[in-house]
Amino acid sequence: MAQRSDIVVIGGGIIGLAIARQLCQSGSAVTVLEQHRTGRGASWAAAGMLAPHCEFDEPDPYFILCRAGLERYAGFVESLREETGRPIDYNATGMIYPALSGGEQARLETRYERHLRNGVSVEKLTVREARRLEPDLSNRIRMALRYPDDHQVENRDVVAALAQSVRLNGGVIREGVTARKIVLDGNRVAGVDTTDGLWNTPTVVNAMGCRARYLEGIPAAHRIPIRPVRGQILALRTGAATPFKHTIYTGGAYLVPRSDGRLIIGATVEEAGFRDEVTLGGVMQLFRSALELAPGLKSWPLDSTWSGLRPVARDGWPVLGAMGTPGLYAASGHGRNGILLAPLTGDLIAEAILHDRVPPIMRPFLPDRFYAARTGETNDEHDS
Ligand SMILES: Cc1cc2nc3c(=O)[nH]c(=O)nc-3n(C[C@H](O)[C@H](O)[C@H](O)COP(=O)(O)OP(=O)(O)OC[C@H]3O[C@@H](n4cnc5c(N)ncnc54)[C@H](O)[C@@H]3O)c2cc1C
Repeated sequence: MAQRSDIVVIGGGIIGLAIARQLCQSGSAVTVLEQHRTGRGASWAAAGMLAPHCEFDEPDPYFILCRAGLERYAGFVESLREETGRPIDYNATGMIYPALSGGEQARLETRYERHLRNGVSVEKLTVREARRLEPDLSNRIRMALRYPDDHQVENRDVVAALAQSVRLNGGVIREGVTARKIVLDGNRVAGVDTTDGLWNTPTVVNAMGCRARYLEGIPAAHRIPIRPVRGQILALRTGAATPFKHTIYTGGAYLVPRSDGRLIIGATVEEAGFRDEVTLGGVMQLFRSALELAPGLKSWPLDSTWSGLRPVARDGWPVLGAMGTPGLYAASGHGRNGILLAPLTGDLIAEAILHDRVPPIMRPFLPDRFYAARTGETNDEHDS
């Protein structure tokens, strides 16, 4: 017999769960369908940096979205802690972005001026100042920027708390259920066909991460052009004597200290299709970059390695909001910033579904930006 839900969210990653939580708290009956286990995709693999200032040079709409995401984060974590009683490792020490070459130094000097003009909180550090804050930084660095407002969170804690919150608020999470296709009534959503039968529902959110384009049953032109971009990570076991208090960020690698005594070293950016493997080349690249930043790391024991697939849209921006098929919403393509953007995405998609409103900050990210420019081709082709 068919099951029923006001809203079905496909995908139990951080994005799907954040949306489900927001909708449940507004009183909707929500079901999350997750083909494997919740939060074991990209949301598990991430490094948890909340770093719009380190990540972006220019104040474009994506940067503005990410900054709004950051402003929301500390309150979001606090409310999740209170609601669920779960610990969430949140580190607000800030980030240090060192330059290792003359070219990088020139780039950071320009970035410093630009960020100051745009009202970003940033400090320029001499080598001595940087190494006073973080003595394990290489003495080969030339200068550094410090971003006190860029934070980091243990994403796995957030996902576990979100899943608990969804359940506490009356939501249903069904693991091991794969959504196969959207069922239409005329041109609008009437349900979802799954490996566990049919769900009748007028509203579906596609939060399938890097698999978002593979939702069948809708016109090919309405598919979201998203591809997987692999990221490999390794972790050292430094124990309580963690060498860093700040997250250290560069274009080549970043070092993220966790309070459980691991130092996360990430991440590669690779076009490898759906192969979420750890490779020798990936690990070597990470070791090399990390040792350039902090040569002393070579004596710490290796804890673990893993990899994950970031969902990346054709133009690199998230895809958020109502799709061409009435009743269907997209929430994917968060690329390198899905942990950062999860709480805000929950707010925005709930606003779109419950009040049929497109908040101005969401407008540049609507799925129809991919429909407009097309002349008959579909979104089925694979991006290079
Ligand atoms: C190595 C790495 C480092 C990263 N570091 C950061 C960082 O520091 N900061 C940051 O903000 N972001 C970071 N990210 C990005 C972030 O992890 C992602 O943007 C975010 O996790 C995407 O969340 P999601 O819920 O869309 O995807 P996912 O977590 O992948 O969840 C999608 C879910 O949908 C499920 N699904 C797919 N198809 C179906 C189907 N047909 N039926 C049912 N379920 C389905 C999948 O099983 C999966 O669980 C990183 C990513 C990687 C890989």
